[in-house]
Amino acid sequence: MKVLAFINQKGGVGKTTVCVNLARALTLEGFKVLVIDFDPQANASSGLGVRVKKQQSIYQAIIEEKVEPFIKQPFSGLYLLPSSIDLVGLEIELVDYPQREYVLRNLIEKGTYLQQPIKEFFDFIFIDSPPSLGLITVNILTASQGVVIPLQCEYYALEGLSLLVRTIKGIKKSLNPELMLFGLVLTMYDGRNRLSHEVAEEAEKHFKWIIFKTRIPRSVKVSEAQSFGKPVIDYDRQNRVSLAFKELSLEFLDRIRERQTLG
Ligand code: ADP
Ligand code: MG
Repeated sequence: MKVLAFINQKGGVGKTTVCVNLARALTLEGFKVLVIDFDPQANASSGLGVRVKKQQSIYQAIIEEKVEPFIKQPFSGLYLLPSSIDLVGLEIELVDYPQREYVLRNLIEKGTYLQQPIKEFFDFIFIDSPPSLGLITVNILTASQGVVIPLQCEYYALEGLSLLVRTIKGIKKSLNPELMLFGLVLTMYDGRNRLSHEVAEEAEKHFKWIIFKTRIPRSVKVSEAQSFGKPVIDYDRQNRVSLAFKELSLEFLDRIRERQTLG
């Protein structure tokens, strides 16, 4: 389990925040992580302080069929294949590609870094996704082994989840047999808020087998850190969100190891 997608067709639920901050927490445990920003909104890139034009982004990597010239290393151990906000047309352009569902998969399979295949050089490859189930997301699901769903502890959090689960099953059946639902993370959790509590309980009832015990609390430090182009851990190491991501990274690693021993 090396390539993981962070997916939820809803916007603003914490996909990018979980993807970037879990990646950063894993680097502090000594792992090398590549974040692929495949969202034209480029929030993972700007949240890591990287702003590039189309010609230096994943867009060009796809055209040239190589990743190395485009990979940045914004923090120690943390690598990024950036997106760019001028990629708004990408979803439509992909339609004209041969093997249009496999564009990202082919890029990852062929990609090298320092003369090694990227799947060997990096311990984990995390893919941040746009808020839709369009062709970009299909590409991400086709390229991934596991899916992590961030779930915001808010009204209607569970709505749409069955469509997402069905989409994942559909891709598994048709395009990518190794795909599995790896985990579900509760985000923006506020223990003093009854609704937050209820959503968490409901999610735990329905997704007991897959939900992470660690919940990511709500804190203004998250958007502050993003505006400075930093993961929360680099902005305020003792903040409870930073501590939660450290805990989540340990739980994540336990689960990875469990899978390895299972099969
Ligand atoms: P998505 O990628 O699903 O659209 P983001 O990760 O960009 O979601 O988060 C949406 C918004 O919520 C952002 O403005 C982000 O700063 C904020 N946010 C995310 N996680 C938290 C959190 N734990 N506490 C407070 N704000 C958060
Ligand atoms: Mg996002």
